[in-house]
Amino acid sequence: MSGSQLLVLSVVPEIFPLVKTGGLADVAGSLPRALAAEGIAVHSLVPGYPAVVAALALRDEVLRIDDLFGGAACVVGTRAAGLDLFVLDAPHLFDRPGALYGHPDDAQRFAALSWTAAAMAQGAATGFVPDLLHAHDWQAGLAAAYLHYDGGERPPTVMTVHNLAFQGQFPAHLLGPLRLPSAAFSIDGVEYYGDIGFLKAGLRFSDRITTVSPGYAEEIRTAAGGMGLDGLLRARGDMLAGFLNGIDTSVWDPATDPALAAQYDAERLQRRAANKAALQSIFGLAGEPDALLVGVISRLAYQKGMDLLAASLPVLLSGGGQLALLGGGDHDLMDRFAAVARANVGRVGVRFGYDETLAHLIQGAADVIAVPSRFEPCGLTQLCALRYGALPLVARVGGLADTVIDANEMALEAQVATGFQFAPAAVEPLEAAIRRACRLWRDQRLWRTMQRNAMAADVGWGRTAGCYAALYRQLASVR
Ligand code: ADP
Repeated sequence: MSGSQLLVLSVVPEIFPLVKTGGLADVAGSLPRALAAEGIAVHSLVPGYPAVVAALALRDEVLRIDDLFGGAACVVGTRAAGLDLFVLDAPHLFDRPGALYGHPDDAQRFAALSWTAAAMAQGAATGFVPDLLHAHDWQAGLAAAYLHYDGGERPPTVMTVHNLAFQGQFPAHLLGPLRLPSAAFSIDGVEYYGDIGFLKAGLRFSDRITTVSPGYAEEIRTAAGGMGLDGLLRARGDMLAGFLNGIDTSVWDPATDPALAAQYDAERLQRRAANKAALQSIFGLAGEPDALLVGVISRLAYQKGMDLLAASLPVLLSGGGQLALLGGGDHDLMDRFAAVARANVGRVGVRFGYDETLAHLIQGAADVIAVPSRFEPCGLTQLCALRYGALPLVARVGGLADTVIDANEMALEAQVATGFQFAPAAVEPLEAAIRRACRLWRDQRLWRTMQRNAMAADVGWGRTAGCYAALYRQLASVR
């Protein structure tokens, strides 16, 4: 440790703004900045996907590896997009087109990331000896296992679960090829239902486990929410904490957001009308300022409850509402929403794909943002929605339950409501929540109060950065 500054090696499979498939990238890109203010210097090790290598201006080689699971590789230190990065330049594993994940050799690709992280944690890179290793999700799960089986000096390790549904499970015959000893194939090791479990390994061998909301930290200890790992998580319950994610409030700021037709703040909410008109035009919706406009920005996946939303739409439409949906993923869901849009021209508009700029405009334009997830570790969309005064309508699960205050009678009376919750995640409760939103929409004074409450909610990293910093310091001090 140099002075009071702590040096952390963060191991992430994606990082905003370079590569992103979900909220993990946002967290990986924004948490280091927040931690800098706490005296924590985070350096992120990321795979050298084409988009990452293309962003490298300076190439300072800090580690050369002759054979990294089938080819030569090196680690390059650099700064990009305000982040300190170590890029794992391994063309045989990462220089390829297409999706980040889902390749036949994913086991080798992310074992390589984890193996390199473990080597760097032990000081293999020139001029970099971290005080702590922080692994994110299954792709980094083996790092703690490699350190454990190496048995040498090592820094403390933290594993963060961003989504327990993605576990990184691979056939047992890869044990040797992944450089794991045969003794590792046991219930106390990396074995997981007869396979090798990358996430399981991380949860088993990390000194501490965190996840991204207090609610999710509870849910994943239960059989219903534990996705096969609840036993291990209960056994390690004392080591498990839930720290609520934040968003980068400089990137998500309606007062300065260049993606908006009109910037605004809590005192100038009437300016949102220009954004609504712009969005209605983009989505081919009728230019009605008084129609309740529901926005969706989401992966189209079972987890996100988009089928529930599709089934509940008649209630929104019969209440005079509109839907603007931006998302991509499941083809059946895309077909379903495309059909709904064709049948409801002017009332339902859809855009399939990933569009960061349009996502900002939806936040600044929609009256409601719907997040009807079946489970949600934290969820970032509803945090952005709070910040933008687009009232979140969410299922009462995980981080959604932790961050939205339901507009029930008591909360309305106390003037603290920030959105709408429903439970369980099913069609009827969702329909009831939509009806409530439609009813409240008619009382514009109340709606404005809720918008101001939402915009005053603390959705930044401040508090949580302090939690991570305290955890890091505690672990590093007992090393
Ligand atoms: P997950 O990581 O499960 O997809 P999160 O809510 O944690 O869900 O994070 C997803 C992030 O990506 C949010 O900021 C969300 O607004 C954004 N996002 C999701 N789909 C799209 C899309 N099609 N276009 C732009 N942004 C999107």
